[in-house]
Amino acid sequence: MSHNGALLPDAPLDDRDGLIWFDGELVPWREARLHVLSHGLHYASSVFEGERAYAGRVFRLHDHSERLIASARELGFELPYSAADLDAATREVVRRSGITDGYVRPVAWRGSHNLRLASGDIPVHVAIAAWPWPDVFAPGARLHGIRLGTSRWRRPSPHTAPVRAKAASLYAVSTLAAHEAEAAGFDDALLLDHRGLLAEATGANLFLVLGRELHTPVPDCFLDGITRRTVIESARDLGITVVERHIEPGELAGATEVFLTGTAYEVQPVASVDGLEFTVGEVTTALVKAFGQAVARDAEIHDAAAAGTAG
Ligand code: PMP
Repeated sequence: MSHNGALLPDAPLDDRDGLIWFDGELVPWREARLHVLSHGLHYASSVFEGERAYAGRVFRLHDHSERLIASARELGFELPYSAADLDAATREVVRRSGITDGYVRPVAWRGSHNLRLASGDIPVHVAIAAWPWPDVFAPGARLHGIRLGTSRWRRPSPHTAPVRAKAASLYAVSTLAAHEAEAAGFDDALLLDHRGLLAEATGANLFLVLGRELHTPVPDCFLDGITRRTVIESARDLGITVVERHIEPGELAGATEVFLTGTAYEVQPVASVDGLEFTVGEVTTALVKAFGQAVARDAEIHDAAAAGTAG
């Protein structure tokens, strides 16, 4: 299965039963529509999140809600909801959808009031949908790793795009790179940045094991993933030295292990980049396990907070 497989549920996404949270209320799934003259559609004035529910609880939900708000601010618009409002809405969608293990997709966009580039104070919409979701890659991918091909597309400079935001506009490059990688028979693309340094995959951050150390590119022109930060913390807890620095593509040749991190990918071993092979080694295996523990710890915090609120 390709990496896009995960975003292809059984039925088309606009023709499913269920409820979607849309501007403050739950609406029937098929009625969660927007107008063709939406600013967000024409000019990519749209930001989103990708979240994952484990056993009915969304991992690091509040961080995701805050990032959605921060992404919108990077694009110059304010969401009409607080992070706490978004947390509550997300919990409600997940609960009402009966989701145990699933994916959550919040999205916010400028509406259809006008199509001026300087759109002024036009209404901003927010929707949150959730659906059950198995693993992103085929069974066995976690064990054996996935194959990456370096893309001709690059992550833009911070002078060219709102690189700190999880902005729809940036995913134009990810979709180009993903199509290219699949056409060439790879599972996913590895993207360099505007300087030609290692950046990330289409939807996940990159780590290399060099000697006994873990090295990862500085997120100065791509998303500093929530999973990335979780894994860095776990690695340091395990006594592994983590180095964030600018990394040349040629340094892959010296890496023994390579893996990706992301909400969808979790900790995903990489078997090869352009045919250069890596093992699914000790460090990757330890961090796959540590990530599972981080999810369990987050669930405990979530439950304690919920109990506190109820009490
Ligand atoms: N980079 C890109 C381009 C992404 O789309 C994602 C997924 N949100 C990530 C990195 C990883 O971020 P996170 O760990 O917060 O999911």
